[in-house]
Amino acid sequence: MTTSDWRTLRNVQARARLERALPSIFPVPVLRHALSRPLIPPTPRLAVESYWRAHILRADRLARALAFRSGTPEGWTWQIGGAGEADRTGSFRTPPAPYRDPAFARGRGACCICGQPVYRFGWHRDLWNSGTPNARAGWHAACVAAWKFWLAPHAQLRALKLRQRYRCATSGKRLLRTAEVDHALPLYQVWREHRTRPWPELLTYWGTPNLQVVNRAAHVLKCREEAGERSRTQRLSRFRVVEDESGFSVIEEG
Ligand SMILES: [Zn+2]
Repeated sequence: MTTSDWRTLRNVQARARLERALPSIFPVPVLRHALSRPLIPPTPRLAVESYWRAHILRADRLARALAFRSGTPEGWTWQIGGAGEADRTGSFRTPPAPYRDPAFARGRGACCICGQPVYRFGWHRDLWNSGTPNARAGWHAACVAAWKFWLAPHAQLRALKLRQRYRCATSGKRLLRTAEVDHALPLYQVWREHRTRPWPELLTYWGTPNLQVVNRAAHVLKCREEAGERSRTQRLSRFRVVEDESGFSVIEEG
């Protein structure tokens, strides 16, 4: 059997499985996307996940919009390097997520990233008029895609390049193959100067409004300037800035 025979057979089976499991109401763009995949996702949930992975900038916008609907929980402040909390990974690289903190979590059926109700298949709207969120769900498919994007935006280089029409955000020249993703306002600076802003606004710094693709030469220069600026200011800080092997900065108390 050739690869293409195998794929055809597999897709016939996957499509049959998907159609069997499909409810009468299902987001049309998600179904259209699923059926156009080289490998058709065999369940509605996988179809939803595949859709958001393929529309990462849309997922980013949606997750931040949902977060705005939730707002900052009463009494919450952004903290890093907290004692023992699994979600407080001790780095300003991780977006603040109050609803992942057990003290502020909204419980079953609410998304741990944005705080809003989750419906069937991890969808963010109650298309099925069920009236209640899906009590078994803890996150939106869109928010999970957005969360991964916020943690590793360089993995979405292609989408970000396309968004800039392949022009370097710094020089305006054509983006080269070695172009890199950069936070226009560095995250250490977000932590240092903007950490008291309302939480939904903070997420903007991890999302597309603060992301740019720049050619490597420009990026190296910017990073060098930032490192110099940091080393001048870190003595004044309660935190220490350390470079780890991946080149990311992590903060430790000390
Ligand atoms: Zn969510």
